[in-house]
Amino acid sequence: MIDPWSSALINYEKLIEQFGIKPFGDLITDIENPPMLMRRGIIFGHRDYGKIVKAMREEKEFTVVSGMMPSGKMHIGHKMIVDQLIWYQKKSADIYIPIADMESYSARGVDFETSRKFAISEYITNYIALGLDFRRKNVKIYLQSENKTVSDLAYLLSRKVNLSEMKAIYGFSGNTNLAHFFVPMIQVADILHPQLEEFGGPKPSIVPVGPDQDPHIRLTRDIAERFKTSFKFITPSSTYHRFITGLTGGKMSSSKPKTAIFLSDSPEEAQKKVMSAKTGGRESLDVQSRLGGVPDDCIVYELLLYHLVESDDELAKIYHDCKSGTLMCGECKNKASRMMKKFLDHISDKREDAKEMAEEVLSGDLKC
Ligand code: SF4
Repeated sequence: MIDPWSSALINYEKLIEQFGIKPFGDLITDIENPPMLMRRGIIFGHRDYGKIVKAMREEKEFTVVSGMMPSGKMHIGHKMIVDQLIWYQKKSADIYIPIADMESYSARGVDFETSRKFAISEYITNYIALGLDFRRKNVKIYLQSENKTVSDLAYLLSRKVNLSEMKAIYGFSGNTNLAHFFVPMIQVADILHPQLEEFGGPKPSIVPVGPDQDPHIRLTRDIAERFKTSFKFITPSSTYHRFITGLTGGKMSSSKPKTAIFLSDSPEEAQKKVMSAKTGGRESLDVQSRLGGVPDDCIVYELLLYHLVESDDELAKIYHDCKSGTLMCGECKNKASRMMKKFLDHISDKREDAKEMAEEVLSGDLKC
């Protein structure tokens, strides 16, 4: 069982075998100009992505739904979702961003006002700074607690879901609060409501997630099938991306600052964090030049792979030079830390302008 609210590390291969997620690499050649997260296998799995490939190829309407959970600061791992939204925005998808304040309340006890403030000051601000264009009409963002269409749909859909099923999917017990039991239904409605008649009717939809969110996807797909006759839902598709490793070797986590580079870190602070990250280097320069380093077990390499090096050729050269022992960790870390500083210099400038706009984005006052 996968628990969407736990912080355990994921075994990706097992997930593909056990839960029927398909390897993403099988359809990468069908995608026009895939972004680096796809090209590099960081997006490793999918369900039904063929529908989205077809919609993009035929320039048909499709939607992307990607929620944000307003608790904890955004770190560089969270950037992956925004990178994907920006790519889909360029592909003319309609983008829906539910702010999961109901989930935050039921699962973490965060009150609605705190969630709202945090969504504005941290998440929406960073989404804008990273380049998601909220001025375009194809982006819709809302608080779950204020969206009556979503709540009403969640209630209607709950008619065909029972307690035993929720316990089996999520491992809920007799002590789980009832709000927590119900909130996955809100997420199901978040994903399916763009297919209601008032939003243009049934259409393909894609939900890019980390693999820990797969229980929500399976539940949503099952429910879409159960209501096929009345709502004519097209079963949603999903993609799954790997999590970036934390700086100390475990999972990167907002609640453990030493593991994470935050988007709000000062460029100098982030630079220091890169310099102290765990590497795949050997015990001495001599050994490394003879045996080469281990980039597949190196956090610095992951930062380059996921975020910092856009050119595949440049990345391949770093990988090769590391393995062949011609690149040493000191030089490599210096280069990565300079790149990180440059990226955060850019983001911190953008964040200043984005702060004011973020409030308008959520209140609907932003002029398109
Ligand atoms: Fe990692 Fe770079 Fe050292 Fe290779 S040379 S192990 S990629 S830090």
